[in-house]
Amino acid sequence: MQWLLAVSFGEIFLKGRNRNVFYKTATNNIKRNIRDIGYDDMYSESSKLYIKADRDKFESLTREIQKVFGIVYISEVVRCDKDMETIRQTSVDLINYYENDKNLTFKVDSKRTDKSFPLTSPELNAKIGGNILESFGNLKVDIHKPDFTVFIDIKSSAYIYIKRTKGLGGLPLGSSGEGLLLLSGGIDSPVAGFMMAKRGMNINAIHFHSYPFTSKRAHQKAMDLAQILSAYTGKMRVYSVNLAEIYKSISKNCPRRETTILSRRFMMRIASKISEKYGYQALITGESLGQVASQTVESMSVINESSMLPILRPLIAMDKKDIIEISEKIGSYDKAIEPYDDCCSIFAPDSPVTKPKLKYIEKSEENLAIETLETQAIESMKIIEIA
Ligand code: ATP
Ligand code: MG
Repeated sequence: MQWLLAVSFGEIFLKGRNRNVFYKTATNNIKRNIRDIGYDDMYSESSKLYIKADRDKFESLTREIQKVFGIVYISEVVRCDKDMETIRQTSVDLINYYENDKNLTFKVDSKRTDKSFPLTSPELNAKIGGNILESFGNLKVDIHKPDFTVFIDIKSSAYIYIKRTKGLGGLPLGSSGEGLLLLSGGIDSPVAGFMMAKRGMNINAIHFHSYPFTSKRAHQKAMDLAQILSAYTGKMRVYSVNLAEIYKSISKNCPRRETTILSRRFMMRIASKISEKYGYQALITGESLGQVASQTVESMSVINESSMLPILRPLIAMDKKDIIEISEKIGSYDKAIEPYDDCCSIFAPDSPVTKPKLKYIEKSEENLAIETLETQAIESMKIIEIA
């Protein structure tokens, strides 16, 4: 049997205005995700992508392909000649392969893309269904809730399959604009990036560190998280900005209780400036209402005032345990809980203001050389390409 993996895409891929662009991005991201596992060949035929590879790699390939948004199913198909005897034999072989000794119900679901094929889809369903019943005394037909389905696609060849795995759904990357993710080393921000990417937003990231107050390993941890996230977002860029001088200046010139909110406003202003230069349309954070003292609606309003761009907070109404669940699912959790300090925890006040007032915060900012500090931070930033 000639085995292939078949990838089916969601509707927006097939009907959307930019379908070729989406298709190309998705295909590139699939290639990127499976380059380490390896495959022999890839081609597309009427809206599905087919991948040739060793049968024993199918499971790991499926797991990686699943990370690409906009995919509805990944199926293990057998390609064969489209004559009735071969189709019958292949269907029987496939049932033997997966389902042979059980008392199960099934149906046949065929689709005829090649209209010159002599049987219509219902005729093919009936014919092959009958053949299967003759070959397996223990099977019964149930067209409403079958235990398994034999799918038959008639294209340039016949493609027959039983096993299919659901994709993540979501919208194709590039269909919803460009976002800049504020990526810390924590649990929340990678999940926030994942969720916006799932809605089709292209994601790049910005990370703030405070070397030498924070370690190189803390920085590396954020880059590792970016690498994990990139299985979903495709290749991305991380702007790495040193906030050490800014923290020093805040702690010298402002009330300690305001450190968190003042530093957040620096982050937003710097992220906005970088977005303006590189064309990102929104900032994304992992904030969740009430999760920590600084994540109050008052804080968020004062933070919003510092940004020229909308701030998207996809986790705003989520419980921590649900965020952790997604983090485990996308594979970022184990990395995120590694215990390296980030700048916020080192400079964090014991009791931060929880209901900051804009006018007092702005008053404190008058003691800071904001423009100079920001220009220095941006000029010394490093750009890391996650390929
Ligand atoms: P996370 O788990 O994402 O670190 P958190 O629960 O620690 O979030 P905060 O420290 O209050 O929450 O940070 C809130 C959000 O601000 C983060 O989700 C992230 O988007 C952004 N942020 C905080 N620190 C940094 C940083 N060092 N670099 C980039 N973004 C940051
Ligand atoms: Mg954090």
